[in-house]
Amino acid sequence: MTSNEKHCPEIDDNPQEEPISCVVAASSEHFTYKTEAKRPWSPKKVLELLEQVYQGYEKLMGSGLDTIIEVRDIVCEPNNHSARTEIKIQVHSAEEFTIESKIICEFPPNYGYIQQEQDLAYHFFAHELFHCWIGGAVANLYEPIVEAITQYMTDLTLVRLGWCSEDLLIHGRVNWQEIIETANLPHTLIAGYKLIFDKMHTNEPERLFAFCRNLADCFRQQRTCMEIEISPVLERYLGVT
Ligand SMILES: [Zn+2]
Repeated sequence: MTSNEKHCPEIDDNPQEEPISCVVAASSEHFTYKTEAKRPWSPKKVLELLEQVYQGYEKLMGSGLDTIIEVRDIVCEPNNHSARTEIKIQVHSAEEFTIESKIICEFPPNYGYIQQEQDLAYHFFAHELFHCWIGGAVANLYEPIVEAITQYMTDLTLVRLGWCSEDLLIHGRVNWQEIIETANLPHTLIAGYKLIFDKMHTNEPERLFAFCRNLADCFRQQRTCMEIEISPVLERYLGVT
């Protein structure tokens, strides 16, 4: 699971509207799903995945965004698959604001019919949802850490819930090591932090989960800020200053 590292989130306070014609639409408690593509996964399956992951994240990090999240599954050029989250916050007064959230995943036509592609597609949907808890707009320096915890917790959650096999994490460890030795920044940093989180999960799982909860608390308290201040949390859990 390395290719997702190319696709960092964009938590955009002011996203550009793009016109998209959607032929399939479905909804569930927390999501609407729209796609114009013929996919190996049905809307029902994606919504099932998203709702289960939502519950998992809620249990881990407390309440999520108080809004229906719009999920768009878009066709892109071959090898251009990517995913992003757009969180639009409208401030009405010092106390009052409304949030709109959109998850956009792009896959080429005929994508997802082999296991590895399906795992990555599931990762994309669940990964973007994790950003709805912890955000993504942080100081540049901290971006690899936010990306690493998002990637790590997404895979852990997908394996725990049975959407992906344990192999995903086993292959991941080998991959991260390889990336550290051969790739460039920021991929080496992301892989390095994933190994740290994996060790933390083995030795002090409660500490890892508390780290996620603390990041979510930061985002909850500072949602209307352009950039979320997480340095005290990073210092506390990772010794990063
Ligand atoms: Zn991300």
